[in-house]
Amino acid sequence: MSCRACGSAVPATAKFCHKCGANLKAELPAAAWRVGLPWGIAGAAVGALLTALVLRSGAGRGATNEVQASFGSPLPAPDISQMSPEERASRLFNRVMVLAQADKQDSVSFFLPMAIGAYQQLPALDNDARYHVGLLQLAGGNTTPALAEADTILTSTPTHLFGFVLRAQAYHQLGDRAKERRAYAAFLKNAPAERARNRPEYNDHKTFLDAFHQEAVRRQSAAPR
Ligand SMILES: [Zn+2]
Ligand SMILES: [Zn+2]
Repeated sequence: MSCRACGSAVPATAKFCHKCGANLKAELPAAAWRVGLPWGIAGAAVGALLTALVLRSGAGRGATNEVQASFGSPLPAPDISQMSPEERASRLFNRVMVLAQADKQDSVSFFLPMAIGAYQQLPALDNDARYHVGLLQLAGGNTTPALAEADTILTSTPTHLFGFVLRAQAYHQLGDRAKERRAYAAFLKNAPAERARNRPEYNDHKTFLDAFHQEAVRRQSAAPR
């Protein structure tokens, strides 16, 4: 086999390229990210919640490049001009989430307007797309537009879990503990019935929702009575 970063021939069993040091096993990004999840969520940082979001199963196809890029390999960016508008928006979303998780704020600022612009060009936004836009806004520290996306989601679907997730993270950034707690409580209250609906977007973000649920339970049991 050959290294995808520099093209050198490498043994099939090698973990790293002997020439450029690229991680040759990076085609398993979901597993790699999952390892970091438990401690990340325990810290309850916004970054940790964003990390978990990257675990969405739909990220599989594009994730290798994104992960390698975040490890600093010289792999070129994918050719986004060949993609459908939906795919382009989704790839840019994944890219910003990975960069935000890696705390590369300069790169986040660079890609963020492009990613949000890609969603604005779509003819219509469903709840999942609105959730992506909300998370992008949060990655840029823009709580007002993120809360607006949460409101739109909850207006169309009053019990949609993504609305409560966006609110919890936005109020966390704003330091509004009371509203943050209320958002977590609303999530817990609606989670059983909502998850039973098997909405496809919940399946896309299953790992994240499971982690968020655990965090909500943890907070509830730790809350003062
Ligand atoms: Zn190499
Ligand atoms: Zn999604």
